[in-house]
Amino acid sequence: RAKDQGRNTYQFYTEGMQEREVMRLELEKELSQALANNEFVLHYQPQLNLNSGEITSVEALIRWQHPHRGLLAPAEFIPLAEESGRITDIGSWVVMAACRQLAAWKGTHFEHLRVAVNLSGRELDNEHLVDHIRDALNAEGIPPERLEVELTEEIFIQNIERNRDQLSRLHDLGVHLAIDDFGVGYSSLAYLRDFPVDLLKIDRSFITEVTLRHDDAVITRAVINLAHNLGLRVVAEGVETQAQLDLLRGQGCNMAQGYLISRPVPAAELEQALLGGTLEKFAATEPGFEI
Ligand code: C2E
Ligand code: MG
Ligand code: MG
Ligand code: MG
Repeated sequence: RAKDQGRNTYQFYTEGMQEREVMRLELEKELSQALANNEFVLHYQPQLNLNSGEITSVEALIRWQHPHRGLLAPAEFIPLAEESGRITDIGSWVVMAACRQLAAWKGTHFEHLRVAVNLSGRELDNEHLVDHIRDALNAEGIPPERLEVELTEEIFIQNIERNRDQLSRLHDLGVHLAIDDFGVGYSSLAYLRDFPVDLLKIDRSFITEVTLRHDDAVITRAVINLAHNLGLRVVAEGVETQAQLDLLRGQGCNMAQGYLISRPVPAAELEQALLGGTLEKFAATEPGFEI
């Protein structure tokens, strides 16, 4: 009986494995067509400037409008794209699409907005990355300071020399660099000194209970102070309540991003919200605050 059970378990396990593998192969094949079929779309999540109370920048987050699986979040296909190497082409598309959006906003109410794009560490493998970003900016006539690149701490851990070189070239171009999900990686703080970073984004895991847990509040305060003393700006990620926003503003955090202000939305929806002035209302309960 034990033997049977063992065998059944084994069969069940392999069938599950096979199903997942088939599904993965299918998704990978579909992913290879997705760019050509124009199935990717960028949603935009606003970042609220806690000093001025204005929306000064937005983060572009990719979605895949899959022909029959619906709108897929990045977690469902970015890892696959990284494994298969397709991430390079996707990254190029993201940069180009963000620049096109910035161009579309020229001469409108939204022309002051900066756009942040996410790049995987893998994309720094591409020696043409910086040239491509320069070309995309030039093609659309966008000043480089309007574009921000978000990378996670992983870039401080592997291929450090190469990554520092890539980031220096990006920095020389005038593009701003943000460290995403800051505080959850395994990197050394020395890299903040050695890499041309402009911005830290405090990981959402520190924000979720920041009003409930003293230790989280101590950590956010320390990161904000560290960043300011290094001349960097700070964004809090995943702000969902007014209490979190007020606490972070009190600590001197420069910007907040999260569902409280807005979920990531299509460009047209963002424009509606900005025109309606509904996003700014979360700021400035304490006028005159200075960072
Ligand atoms: P991220 O760059 O840290 O983006 C923040 C994620 O947190 C987004 O998930 C956003 O929708 C979500 N989020 C924002 N505010 C809140 C909040 O208040 N509460 C909660 N619970 N979540 C919030 P999303 O869009 O699913 O993206 C997940 C990750 O996928 C991103 O994390 C980023 O690492 C990656 N990603 C997104 N777009 C791209 C892209 O174009 N290229 C690459 N390489 N990676 C991307
Ligand atoms: Mg990001
Ligand atoms: Mg993040
Ligand atoms: Mg993240």
